[in-house]
Amino acid sequence: MTQGLSPNLQHLETSATIAISQEAKRRRAAGEDVIDLGAGEPDFPTPPIPADAGIRAVKEGKTHYPANEGILELRAAAAKHLSLLSGGRPVNADHIVVSSGSKQSLFNACFTLFGPGEVVAIPAPAWVSYPQIVHLARARPVLVSGDPEWSLKVSVKDLDRVVPGAQGLMLCSPCNPTGGVYTQGEIRAIAEWARKRGVWVIADEIYRRIHYGTGPAPSFLDLPDELLERVVVVYGVSKAYAMTGWRIGLALAPGTIARAMAALQSHTTTGANHPAQYAAAAALGDERVEHDVSRMVAEFRRRRDLVVSRFRQELPGIEFVEPLGAFYFFFRVDSLGGTSGTEFCTRLITQSGVALVPGAAFGDDRYVRLSYAAATDSIVQALDRIVAFAKKLGD
Ligand code: PMP
Ligand code: GLU
Repeated sequence: MTQGLSPNLQHLETSATIAISQEAKRRRAAGEDVIDLGAGEPDFPTPPIPADAGIRAVKEGKTHYPANEGILELRAAAAKHLSLLSGGRPVNADHIVVSSGSKQSLFNACFTLFGPGEVVAIPAPAWVSYPQIVHLARARPVLVSGDPEWSLKVSVKDLDRVVPGAQGLMLCSPCNPTGGVYTQGEIRAIAEWARKRGVWVIADEIYRRIHYGTGPAPSFLDLPDELLERVVVVYGVSKAYAMTGWRIGLALAPGTIARAMAALQSHTTTGANHPAQYAAAAALGDERVEHDVSRMVAEFRRRRDLVVSRFRQELPGIEFVEPLGAFYFFFRVDSLGGTSGTEFCTRLITQSGVALVPGAAFGDDRYVRLSYAAATDSIVQALDRIVAFAKKLGD
C-alpha cells in the first residue's frame, strides 16, 4: 500500500474509462489526430427543455441548498416516469433519493447495504467502477464471468457456483461494457434467486431507455412488489437525456434504505446540485423530451448498425457481443495473434490515432470496448483505422 494513504483506499485506482478520455484529450491538445471512441458519453447537447429549466432555476434563485434527498418536483417526476416505463406500476416518490450522478447513487447503495468482508457478486465483464465502489465500502467484490455463448450474461447457476454466500449483487442491464440486455425472464430468475438467498440486488438501469428492442429495456420494476423487497434500482439522466455534466442520478429503494442513503449523503454532498435538479425534473417530467430521447436512441441504433455491419463484413473472424442496448460494442481481440486488449488499445492509439478501452478495465482483457456515442463521421473514420490496424495485426 502507498505510504500515507488510508487503508480505505488500498484498492483504489483511477477510473480507466475516464483516464482514457483524458489521454485522448491530452493527445489532441498536443496536436495529434486522435478519435475518441473511449468515453461513454453522448455527443448530443442536452435537449432544450431541461437546459432551459436549469437556466430558469438559476435565474429564479433556486441556488440555495436543496432538500437533502432531492427536491420533491424531481422525485415526483421520476416516480411518474418510472411508473410509466413499467406499465403504470405504483412508484413511491418518498422512496427515491436524488444524488450527484448515478455513480453516487451506486456508492450510497453499496455503502448503505454492505460492510467489511461481505461478498458482492458482480457479473463480468463489468463497468469499471463497480468493484472500486464495493471496495470503498470495505466489502469484497467477486467477479462472476458471463457466458460468451450468451452475450456474456450470467445465470443463477453461475451465481450459485461462484458466490453461493453472497450478500449482494450488482447487475447492469443494458450492460456497460457489452451492450447485452437481460430479458424479463432472466431478470425474474435472478430476482427470485436473490430473494431466496436474502441477497440485496443493486440494479443499474441507467441505460434502460437506450434499448434497440421494443420499448424500454426489461427492468426489475416490471416485477411484482414481493420480488423488490431487497432491490435498489439505480436510474439517471446522464445517458439517455444527454445530461452527463449536470450530475444527477437517482435510486429507488425500500423506505428504510432510501432514508439511510439520504442520511449518508447529508454528510457527504448535502444533496445534488439544486438547479440541475430542476433540469432533470423537466427531462423526466415533460412528454416532449421523450421525443428528443427517441431521436437520440434512433441515431445510436444507426451507429450501432454501422459498427456491427462493418465488423461483420470486414473483420469476420472477430467475435463480439450483439449490442441490444446502451452505446457500446465489445469485441474480442485475442484471435489477432494472441493480442491482449491492453496491447491492442495502446498500439491503436499510438499507431492509428483511435482511443478505445481495453477489456482489462472491465475484468476481461481478451476484449476491447468501443463507444459509438460519437458523431457518425468520427465513427466511420475510426472504423477505417481500426479495420486496417486489425488486419495488419492478424496477418
Ligand atoms: N452506471 C453505468 C453502468 C455507467 O456506465 C455510468 C457512466 N458513467 C454510470 C453508472 C454513472 O453515470 P452518472 O454518474 O453520470 O449518472
Ligand atoms: N460510464 C462512462 C464510461 O463507461 C463514463 C465514464 C465513467 O464514468 O466511467 O465510459
